[in-house]
Amino acid sequence: MAGERILIIEDEARIAQFVERGLIYEGYRVNVARDGQTGLAIARDNPPDLVILDWMLPGLDGLEVCKRLRAAGDVPIMMLTAKDDIKDRVIGLDAGADDYLVKPFSIDELMARVRSLFRRSTPTSRPEILRFADLTLDTGTHRAYRGERAIDLTAKEYELLELFMRNPRQVLTRDVIFDRVWGYDFGGESNIIEVYVRYLRQKTEQDEESRLIHTVRGVGYVLREE
Ligand code: CA
Repeated sequence: MAGERILIIEDEARIAQFVERGLIYEGYRVNVARDGQTGLAIARDNPPDLVILDWMLPGLDGLEVCKRLRAAGDVPIMMLTAKDDIKDRVIGLDAGADDYLVKPFSIDELMARVRSLFRRSTPTSRPEILRFADLTLDTGTHRAYRGERAIDLTAKEYELLELFMRNPRQVLTRDVIFDRVWGYDFGGESNIIEVYVRYLRQKTEQDEESRLIHTVRGVGYVLREE
C-alpha cells in the first residue's frame, strides 16, 4: 500500500511537520501546502490519492477548499479541526469531507484513519443492483430509484442507503451505522445519523410513497415495508 501520495494543507508548521514525518515514515509520498490556494494548485497539477485538510486556514478556509476539491474529483478528504462541535462536523461532511480528526490527535490515530480511508476508497467489488420493495440502488453509478423516479444521493447518503439495502429487515444499531458508514465512533451525543436518515427519507419517501426507513426507538433504524 506504500507509495500513495498524500497532500497536507495546513498552515501550522508544527502540525504539518508532525503529520508529514509520520506519513513519510509509513512509506507515503507527501506534499505540504501552507494555504488553500497553494493546496488547490498542487492538487490540480499533481492529483493526490488523499488530502489531509485543516479547517482553519488563512485566506481560503478549509471548508471552501474542501468544496472545490470535491467539485474537481473523488479524492478522499480528511479534515483536521480544533472545533469539537458536531454542527461543524456535519457542515464539513456536507461539503464533501470523508472523515474528521479533532486536534490534538496522536500519530497512531491519524495513521489508522488514513488506512481506513484508503480501504474505503478502493473499489472491492463489481457493480450490483440492490433491490428492496420499489427501491433500487446501482452500486456502480451510485444512483437510486424509487420506482421509476431517479434519486440523486451525496456520498454519505449513498453509503447509508447501501448499508440499509444490504441488510434489509435487520435493525441496525447506531454503533453499527457509525462504524460502517463513518468508519469510527462519532461519540454518543452525535445526531449525525438522525440528520442523514432525515436527508434520505426526504429523498426516498416523497409525496404518497410509503415509509421504508423506520426508527427503532432507542436502538437504531431498520429498512422494511410498512
Ligand atoms: Ca490552521
